[in-house]
Amino acid sequence: MAKKATGKPARRLAKAVKTMARVARRAARPAAKAKKAATPVKKAATGKYVYFFGNGKAEGDRTMRDALGGKGANLAEMTNAGLPVPPGFTISTDVCNIYYKDKGKLPASIETEIKRNVDKLEKAAGATLGSTTNPLLVSVRSGAKFSMPGMMDTILNLGLNDAAVEGLKARTSNGRFAFDSYRRFIQMFGNVVLDIPKDVFEHEFEAVKHERGARQDTELDEAALREVVERYKRVVRDRTGRDFPQDPHQQLAMSRDAVFRSWMNPRAQEYRRIYDIPDHIGTAVNVQMMVFGNTGDRSATGVGFTRNPATGANEFYGEFLINAQGEDVVAGIRTPQPIVELENVMPKAFRELRQITKRLEKHYRDIQDFEFTVQDEKLYMLQTRNGKRTGYAAVVIATDLVAEKLISPKEAILQIDPESLSQLLSPGFDQKEWKSIPLATKGLPASPGAASGHVVFNADDAVKWADQGKPVILVRRETVPDDIHGMYVSQGIVTATGGMTSHAAVVGRQMGKPSVVGAGELNIDEGGKQFTVNGKTVKEGDFVSFDGLTGEVKIARVASKPSEILQVLNGQMPEKDSDIYRRFNQILTWSDKFRRLGIRANADQPDQAELAYAFGARGIGLCRTEHMFFGEGRIPIVQRMILATTEADRRAALNELLPMQRGDFYGVFKAMHGEPVTIRTIDPPLHEFLPKREELMVEIAQMETKGQSGKELDKKRELLHRVEQLHEFNPMLGHRGVRLGITYPEITEMQTRAIIEAACQLAKEGIKVVPEIMIPLVGHVKELRDQKAIVDRVAGEVIAEQGVRVKYLVGTMIEVPRGAMTADQVAAEAQFFSFGTNDLTQLTFGFSRDDIGKFLRIYQDKKILDKDPFATFDVDGVGPVVRTAVELGRKARTDLKLGVCGEHGGDPSSIHFFEKVGLDYVSCSPYRVPVARLAAAQAGLSVKVGD
Ligand code: PEP
Ligand code: MG
Repeated sequence: MAKKATGKPARRLAKAVKTMARVARRAARPAAKAKKAATPVKKAATGKYVYFFGNGKAEGDRTMRDALGGKGANLAEMTNAGLPVPPGFTISTDVCNIYYKDKGKLPASIETEIKRNVDKLEKAAGATLGSTTNPLLVSVRSGAKFSMPGMMDTILNLGLNDAAVEGLKARTSNGRFAFDSYRRFIQMFGNVVLDIPKDVFEHEFEAVKHERGARQDTELDEAALREVVERYKRVVRDRTGRDFPQDPHQQLAMSRDAVFRSWMNPRAQEYRRIYDIPDHIGTAVNVQMMVFGNTGDRSATGVGFTRNPATGANEFYGEFLINAQGEDVVAGIRTPQPIVELENVMPKAFRELRQITKRLEKHYRDIQDFEFTVQDEKLYMLQTRNGKRTGYAAVVIATDLVAEKLISPKEAILQIDPESLSQLLSPGFDQKEWKSIPLATKGLPASPGAASGHVVFNADDAVKWADQGKPVILVRRETVPDDIHGMYVSQGIVTATGGMTSHAAVVGRQMGKPSVVGAGELNIDEGGKQFTVNGKTVKEGDFVSFDGLTGEVKIARVASKPSEILQVLNGQMPEKDSDIYRRFNQILTWSDKFRRLGIRANADQPDQAELAYAFGARGIGLCRTEHMFFGEGRIPIVQRMILATTEADRRAALNELLPMQRGDFYGVFKAMHGEPVTIRTIDPPLHEFLPKREELMVEIAQMETKGQSGKELDKKRELLHRVEQLHEFNPMLGHRGVRLGITYPEITEMQTRAIIEAACQLAKEGIKVVPEIMIPLVGHVKELRDQKAIVDRVAGEVIAEQGVRVKYLVGTMIEVPRGAMTADQVAAEAQFFSFGTNDLTQLTFGFSRDDIGKFLRIYQDKKILDKDPFATFDVDGVGPVVRTAVELGRKARTDLKLGVCGEHGGDPSSIHFFEKVGLDYVSCSPYRVPVARLAAAQAGLSVKVGD
């Protein structure tokens, strides 16, 4: 048994080491690119791996996040600012990479450097590790450059052993406290370092409680806790075949390594994947003198924010527990008290905390998320960092900080994650309907937003249901970091325990998932997959809805309605009534001042175009005309056009489509108020407009067995015949794009006529419009030349017929690598290029955009790909193709207009690349326009064209 338990961490280490060795090699390359590389950093001095902080002086500072991690850098900064921070030292992230590169070993020189810092810490603390009179206890915590709350491991109370625990008792005159600390340490060490499941310890703990008739943990006295310690030590011996290590230095080395290993645990890896944090940066380890919030009623521990991270309101926010250790608050086991109540119990510590946190907010010029401990009424600051917040809060806080003159508008726009703006556009409930449904229960409003879906009780089920396209609400007693994949796919999260800073609340807010926590009336049976509340039973799959802004939970399916911002844009709510709209608009107006890139939208319908314009798009970058073919009553005409066997029949069908397309274009042009509109000629393979071959075969067979005959059956057979004729082995590489226009020139003729006639009509009404006619999938200049000749001829005819002057441009999509590599020749015929990065990615990688889902996850797990290249532009591989096309194109035609209309046009990190390469605009879906405006401003401020 012992072998089995010790073998597991070893295997885990071996696996992690293999992955990290690769990661470390990559890190050694100078151009290794971290996501937020724009953050100013100071490189660690060569050869120094451990940084001390204590007694008002630190060797690091806040600019050294690369080496010290966020936590280490901020502890150093707070120490230098003279704040009450317990002394300690930070082992740098470089050591983590060395640990993996050297297969779990550290060179003797680093061990010596750590030992030197332990000596220094003992001096600063006035206590010694393992002392029987005055033992030093330390915490060992992870801390990467980007915070990853709860994803890695922590060990508290390190340094206790059979002798030191007596020393702690003697020093504090509190035997209960000493033995409670020791049992906590063995449990944490046993779980994190030795990989013994938590419940094995819980089981022993409960047994002692049971024997002694205790209901609460706090009812156990020193003698009982001594027994718990003995039982725990026995567990360690049984499970690992060794005694619990008594040497504090050995404890420290083992804990440090466990924290390094936790960098590669599955949940940390998953978190990095979701938040786009590179693997190679590693984690630092912070070793810090312990202070205790659990020495009695004059002690407390808590976490808080300088402002409300859910709503952004300028109020002191957080919670604390009297007589507790930090993990008790976050774990959500006891329900903590609101932080403002600290003023009543410990007024002096509260005043000092308020003053310090205000100072920290001013210093960091951003909302702070802090941890503190009060030990015997003395306040200690354990951590501060810029607080994670909802998109809603981000906008409120940034605009407030500018109004308070704490930051400039430029800093405000750099402070907001562009992606989070989309949270502000997500729907809410119709209040009338919502109010008509009885309340089931109310919890704490941890993350705003309306959510409705089928109840599931664990993360794996959440993924299973979501994979079937069903909206789910994850209901848990409390969430743990391992639930992250389930939280990610859920519409929202509800927990029965925990406070506003519990795991579910923190992660829910960060993900922008509506969340309600601490709904204590829910009686959850996770194993039985049901909960009861006020006499009602809710089973897996039943519908539940909740409002993350009020905490109200209801057992019903409730339809949602547009966000306040959309209501203002739709004219349903006056602007003056919506505070959040005005702030949102302010942020975007500031953004517009700092961006060079134009923002357009991909839209095919007038209402989409209107919304895009209202969101701030100034132009359409892609109007996919084929989408218009799917409009009501059009498909039969389109099918007639496709089935036509003669040009005359085809023209007849096209003539029917002409007024419809003209009407569409007229509407889209008008909605754009004179801004440029790029219209693409037909692109998809024709079979997409026809019924599926298999379906037709079944229908025909059914008609035949029923003995039906006649016209209807003949028509079906004819259709099947044409479908079979149009069958292609690789339709995405087949008869589509410009190839359709070349083989059926009358389609291009009809579309050109519809575009120019609509433009002429608007010109007659006095409305300016400059259509940009775009030919898709061009790989050879002669393809474009062929189509351009048709466009120019037909446009000339229409303009002459109509007798109005209308300007138009002809250009092409660059989405075939050959088109990009011969861009100078193509530019001779094209007045603009629009990069179709969807197809360009598909054709450069050779990954089918429709089939990548089958293997992408495996590629990501194996670290072959970090990100989905169809969501985040592949700068390394597809980047040079775009760059070459830009350079060749501009050389051939200096006034060549350049844009991008693939999905990447709305992705913040891709937008950074498009800024660097000097495109004129990005085009994205209407709902992404606000995200793109802000991301383009951030790109404009942090990178330069030509970088
Ligand atoms: C593209 O390929 O990037 C593009 C915008 O065209 P579509 O997605 O319609 O193929
Ligand atoms: Mg395309």
